[in-house]
Amino acid sequence: MSEGVRRAGQKAVCGLVNLVFPDECRVCNEPLHEVSRVPVCSRCLKEPEPLHAEFFCVTCRTPFVNRHPLDETGRCALCRLGLNGFDAVYSFGAYDGTLRKLIHLFKFQGVRPLQRVFGGFLAQVLPREQRFDAIVPMPLHWRRRWQRGFNQSELLAVEIARRWGVPVRRLVRRARATPPQAGLTSAQRRKNVQGAFKSAGKTRLDGMRILLVDDVLTTGATAGACARALKRAGASHVSLLALARRDRRDRWLNVEDNA
Ligand SMILES: [Zn+2]
Ligand SMILES: [Zn+2]
Repeated sequence: MSEGVRRAGQKAVCGLVNLVFPDECRVCNEPLHEVSRVPVCSRCLKEPEPLHAEFFCVTCRTPFVNRHPLDETGRCALCRLGLNGFDAVYSFGAYDGTLRKLIHLFKFQGVRPLQRVFGGFLAQVLPREQRFDAIVPMPLHWRRRWQRGFNQSELLAVEIARRWGVPVRRLVRRARATPPQAGLTSAQRRKNVQGAFKSAGKTRLDGMRILLVDDVLTTGATAGACARALKRAGASHVSLLALARRDRRDRWLNVEDNA
């Protein structure tokens, strides 16, 4: 056996062993004692908590530092003006700390068994009585999907679909790749993603209630554009379900910054 082949073999065996018996938690670096497909300790898996806010918009659930951005019905300016594009938002935690690290492991390092754990988080915030006809993952541009090998939102959608007994349907697609949203204002973000989504196929979605699933919610501009494409195809209701949202309360001192 050549040295190269032997090394490759050793590497493959090590990879396999690491998958089943990882030595340390990939979040807190403490030694792992339990055998699991997820290389994260049980303490870190239990750590993420639902985002708490004293003041938040009743529709998009955006947290605020005080009640000034909210009108008497409890809605923020974007919802009041109908600029959000979706009818309700359910999101689990803040995109921060352990939850953020777990999402990175899932998305960028391909730790797919976290799908189950995240399904549990999502189920905690989605009201059981809500009825949906289809669960739609936020589409990735095909190039991104090809690079990553999977669409993280699709894995989350599958998990919720399994628990809710509702089918996952790919009803929207990315019509074009969009430049990164980072550093743009709320209005610029909405413009950046305008027309970025098209309904897939010719199926009319008349009267359908849709649950759109995304991993991280920043301003909601991208999800809003996607929700609008679903509504153009006839959907009567689009709710958004996200695993985490960027909590930018410290910067949300004026309404324009609410994005
Ligand atoms: Zn840990
Ligand atoms: Zn709102």
